[in-house]
This record gives sequence, C-alpha cells and structure tokens, in this order.
Amino acid sequence: MLHLPKDDPAIARLIEKEEKRIETTLDLIAAENHVPLSILEAMGSILNTKTIEGYPGNRFHAGCRYVDEIERLAISRAKLLFGAEYANVQPHSGTSANLAVFFSVLELEDKVLAMSLPHGGHLSHGHRASLTSKCFTFQHYEVDRETERIDYESVRSIAEEFRPKMIVVGASSYPRLIDYEKMAHIAEDISAYLFTDMAHIGGLVAAKVIPSPVPFSDFVSFTCYKTMMGGRGGVILCKHRYGSKIDRAVFPGCQGTSAVNLIAAKAIIFKLAQDPQFIEIQKRTVADAVSLANELAARGYRIVTGGTENHQVIVDLGSKGIIGEIGEDTLESVGIITNRNVIPRDVQTRGTVSGLRLGTAAVSARGMGPGEMKEIAELIDEALINVNRKNVLDQVAQEVAALCRKFPVYG
Ligand SMILES: *Cc1c(COP(=O)(O)O)cnc(C)c1O
Repeated sequence: MLHLPKDDPAIARLIEKEEKRIETTLDLIAAENHVPLSILEAMGSILNTKTIEGYPGNRFHAGCRYVDEIERLAISRAKLLFGAEYANVQPHSGTSANLAVFFSVLELEDKVLAMSLPHGGHLSHGHRASLTSKCFTFQHYEVDRETERIDYESVRSIAEEFRPKMIVVGASSYPRLIDYEKMAHIAEDISAYLFTDMAHIGGLVAAKVIPSPVPFSDFVSFTCYKTMMGGRGGVILCKHRYGSKIDRAVFPGCQGTSAVNLIAAKAIIFKLAQDPQFIEIQKRTVADAVSLANELAARGYRIVTGGTENHQVIVDLGSKGIIGEIGEDTLESVGIITNRNVIPRDVQTRGTVSGLRLGTAAVSARGMGPGEMKEIAELIDEALINVNRKNVLDQVAQEVAALCRKFPVYG
C-alpha cells in the first residue's frame, strides 16, 4: 500500500493487522477462501470507478468499450467453465443472485419449496428473516432423521402435495452430494422450475471434483468467494430460454449499477479455474475434508451424516458436551477460525447451537494435506477438551502459529 498509510493511517494499520491475522491463523470457515493476488489486484483497480448500467453493447452511459470486453469475457468463460447456456455475472452477492432468480419467473406469493435452514438451507431460501419469505410462499423440506441426508421420497411427496412453482436445492451446511437428476425428475413431474444454489461448492463443481447441477437445473446460482476462490460476488447460470428474464431481473429488477472490478475478478478466476493448479487444490479440498472428518471421528466427535463428500465437516459438539459458542470462541483463542452452526434437530435452543461447521477450502489452498489434517484434528481436540486450562491453550496456540508459518498464504 503506497497511498493509504498517508491518507488514512488508522485504516491502513487495521488492514495490515487483518493481513497478519490471516497469515497467522487457520481458516476453517467453510464460506471463506484465500484468493489469488491477481484477483485482489483487479478488485482494487481503476475498474472501481466506471459506472455501468445494462449489458455489453447496450449500456446507459458512454465509455464502456473496455468494460464491455471485460464483461463479455467473464460471461463466455463462465459458460465454458460450467457448460452453461447462459450466464449473468453482475450479481453483487449470492443473495442478490437468488433474488433475481426468484423474481425472474415467479409472481408475488407464488409457492416455492426449499431446504429448511436448520437442516442446511440458506437464509435467502425463504427463511422468515429474509425478504424472500415476505414475497413468496415457502414450504421447507428437512433431512432424514437417521441418515441426516436429503430424503428424496419425502421431497417428492411434499412437492406433490404443495405443488410449488419452483424447487430450490443447494445448501449452506450440508456435507453430502446432492442427486440433481432426482430433484429434476421431481420438479419435472409437477412442472416446477428447478433452481440449484451451489454457493458453497462452485469451485468443486468447476474443477469437476463433484457432480454438476448445471445440466439438470433451469437456474444455478453461486458465489465466487467460497470454494470458487474468486473474491466477492455472485453469478447466475441458466438455460438460454430464461436469459433475457434473468438479465432484466438482475438489472434493473434487483440491482442498479454493477461492480466492474468484481466482474473482472470473476473473469480471472474462471480462467484460472482451468489450470491444473486450481483443479489440484479443489481435489485436495475434498480429500482434506474426508481426512479431517475421519480424524475428528477417531477422537470421539460425532460428524453429522457420518462424514463428508465436499469441503464441509459438520461436527456435533454435543457429543463432547460442548455448545457451539464455546467451541468457536475456544478455537478462536488458539488461532483456529471456525463458525458455530445449527445442526438438524439441534437439541440446543435459546440462541445456542450444538454444531461447528468446518471447511477445508482455505487450508487446502494453503497447500495443507492429510498430515496437516491429522495435526489440526489433534489441535482442535486438545483445545476443546481443555477449554479452561490456559497453559494448555497457550501451548496449542503456539503449535497453530508454527503450522501457519510452514504454509504461508501469500509467501
Ligand atoms: C453463502 C451462501 C449464499 C450467499 O450469499 P451472500 O449473499 O453472498 O452472503 C447463498 N446461498 C447459499 C446456499 C450460501 O451458502
């Protein structure tokens, strides 16, 4: 940073501290990742200053010749990477992308079936705190009591009774693969749209490490900052026949001017995602999650669904008599950054939860592998069984710091 320390030393110092925090802690937040420096360069570039409305070749302000090329590249690379017929790269976030999908083909109060939030679904899938629940009539499906996985027969019977105009599949907290073909059959049989929200798993899908929802879905949305490694922002993919509806729903329907710097960042990650290095990171992300789940299970932690097939490991801390809040705070105190999470049929109530959601995307991006997952499981366990022993926690913190030094984020 050349200019910021002069203009605003307070903010400059805080950014420096944040950078140090990132280098010296283990990021196990499933919704985060370390992004390439080229992405940060594009996001902090002069592109911030261009105001655009509309789409390439059809703008409402002059001076768009270069940004039109940037947006066209982002669109064509998104389509190529995911084998999609149509792409809109303007959504500011996953939630914005989802709003645009809903408003593209639904009327107010139309019926939508989605996964319940405590069972893994997202706020923007009709949770009562979200605008989506005020605009549309949602019903929610839950996971099976025994397997904690989606019960497709139950989804089918709810769908046949409720008759939604759209079915939403995809989750914030669900460590298993989803059978998109089955969901597509259910949707088709009741003439509903199928909308897949792959916010968390976009990078894994891009690298073809897990199955893609694109061939089976009318609409797919994702965010670029989770496994995708591309920084902030959302994207919508859809069938060609919905393209103009989606475009109108994003702008002017749900958003005004879009962020050219973020559109450029999306273009860059869609290029980098074709490199062997990206594919390798995504493969390792899943392998690392499997290792971490196994290592924690071996230490007596109950893993929700019994394991993982993506980047997430959902731990039921109730199996150790700890609540999520204490787990999250204790781990943060030793430099392991996680988030507490509600789990299906959570026994905790009144604002506390039993779960801890872990994700391996960021540590795998840092180059860590199975050996480190074993070490991380050991460190998590050491901390969590010694919540009140400051000397043990200090020792764990030192080991976390040493591990981080071995795997620098930005070298
Ligand atoms: C993270 C996430 C989103 C995203 O949203 P933001 O608006 O970018 O915070 C949407 N859907 C799901 C399923 C998610 O996990």
